[in-house]
Amino acid sequence: MCGIVGYIGERNALPVLINGLKRLEYRGYDSAGVAVLGENLQIRKCKGKVTDLEKHLDKSLQSGTVGIGHTRWATHGEPNDVNAHPHESHHGKFVIIHNGIIENYSRLRDRLIERDVKFKSETDTEVLANLIEFIYEKSEVGAELAVRLALSKVIGAYGLVVMCKDEPDKLIAARKGSPLVIGVGNEEYFLASDATPIVEYTKSVIYLNDGDVAIIRKEQLILKTLKNDEQGPTVQQLNIDIGEIDKGGYEHFMLKEIFEQPKSINDTFRGRVRSEESEIHLGGLYNVLPKLIEAERIIIIGCGTSWHAGLVGEYLFEDLARISVEVEYASEFRYRNPIINHDDVVIAISQSGETADTLAAIRLAKERGAMVLGICNVVGSSIPRETDAGVYTHAGPEIGVASTKAFTCQVTVLAMMAIMISRKKGLITDERYRDIIREFTEIPGKIEKILRHNHDIKKVAELFQNATNSLYLGRGYLFPVALEGALKLKEISYIHAEGYPAAEMKHGPIALIDTKMPVVVVATKDSSYEKIVSNIQEVKARNGVVIAVVTEGDTVIKNMADHVFEIPQVDNIFAALLSVVPLQLFSYYIAVMRGCNVDQPRNLAKSVTVE
Ligand code: GLU
Repeated sequence: MCGIVGYIGERNALPVLINGLKRLEYRGYDSAGVAVLGENLQIRKCKGKVTDLEKHLDKSLQSGTVGIGHTRWATHGEPNDVNAHPHESHHGKFVIIHNGIIENYSRLRDRLIERDVKFKSETDTEVLANLIEFIYEKSEVGAELAVRLALSKVIGAYGLVVMCKDEPDKLIAARKGSPLVIGVGNEEYFLASDATPIVEYTKSVIYLNDGDVAIIRKEQLILKTLKNDEQGPTVQQLNIDIGEIDKGGYEHFMLKEIFEQPKSINDTFRGRVRSEESEIHLGGLYNVLPKLIEAERIIIIGCGTSWHAGLVGEYLFEDLARISVEVEYASEFRYRNPIINHDDVVIAISQSGETADTLAAIRLAKERGAMVLGICNVVGSSIPRETDAGVYTHAGPEIGVASTKAFTCQVTVLAMMAIMISRKKGLITDERYRDIIREFTEIPGKIEKILRHNHDIKKVAELFQNATNSLYLGRGYLFPVALEGALKLKEISYIHAEGYPAAEMKHGPIALIDTKMPVVVVATKDSSYEKIVSNIQEVKARNGVVIAVVTEGDTVIKNMADHVFEIPQVDNIFAALLSVVPLQLFSYYIAVMRGCNVDQPRNLAKSVTVE
């Protein structure tokens, strides 16, 4: 959450900062700001998006070659001009941008106020700016030591960049719990919350670790710990193409990412699922395979869409690998006193690899002796670094706040794992294995077929664009799809949507059914088909309006439902991968028709790095 950018070098810093903020805006967009150090220090910030900020930029900011920028997702203090970052310290010596939460900010703030320090904003971040300045002035230490001493008094999470007016030749960056990447150029450095703003300038990057402090001059970077131990930075090469972070001709990132799914699933397969004759090969799990195969229990943790993918994983692991599975919200798991055994395997799922609650749950599970695996998309992010082993989804950058391709690629990885374990345990015959792999590799082509019918889905969306409530139902593998479909609709179109197991409808939600509320039923041909047909009858008997996701050629439901979205015939175990696609498109079109900002939905942000 929140996007941070920084630049130091020979270029005009402002365009680098503004381009960077535009790339990072998916992380937070309730206010934006920049600070540029040229002949003097200039700060511009305002409530709203980066385009609003651009209206406040003038020539006087053009001369600086050092600068920082921020796009905010407010935690402390409403989004307004004053609370926007960068924050300047009381005497104007320091300027700071920050991602995260300073948990003990109130106590620190009170102490500083007792010492006559004045505050302008309601943010926790301003406490940091003032604490650094207070130490700097009182102890007469340099900016770097003042930052390190201040951070040693702070409880909470931060990714931050500090500029000091007295020491204009440097930026000081630090990380604990919120991501920061440094791009290494030729006598210039770029800083950002993720690599997307950096990739157009350089592919050489340094990922900061928790506890790292970087002192960056244009010709030199020094990396040390808070306690002043110097470390050699590890420079890695980015594997992202600039085209991957553009809209590529689509109106929105979300639509582009929905249409990218056949390609991203193929990328997830690459080198791992080859042919019906060969085994699934997951290199990242090689060292942990014996323990994984023998696991008595798998605990899957995630948040939001990743949690839904985890639920599909539960069906897959239980069905195919015969391992008992529990799926947990990371935020609940970490604050319970969960029972975790040494022979449990925990699988953490997160697109960004930075989700704060998931990271905390991982740490708890590790402390209690479990082996922890990660399923993440962003290479080099925190979760892959903190887990014992894992599998990257390789979905490519996902910029749309509503997750789409990340979900299908997470499910693809979970399916690969379940099939692989099943095979290694000898639970499936050679023939069934060959059938499964054949079906699996046909998934991208089948998704393409669904996508070709996007106009039919758009027509149905048109009819329901003014709905105020909706119900999504599914059973078995399709229950998590109902949850995911409902989540997509509510997060981008602000229509209230509830996902429910179809059979549970009778225990409550059936009371909501009327002639207006759409009931979306995910009802492809699987073992519970007959049951879900009965559930549809129950809705129709109460004059409900049914939109059903059905298997091509299904005439039974077609005759009962008001509208259908057809998907190709598919093995039950892969049904989630196909049936979610029409629901993604349905939500997308409804949101566009309602004039909602699809890529930046209200109040949300991608990569939830606060708890
Ligand atoms: N806690 C800070 C604020 O509310 C930073 C939030 C963020 O990460 O955007 O301003």
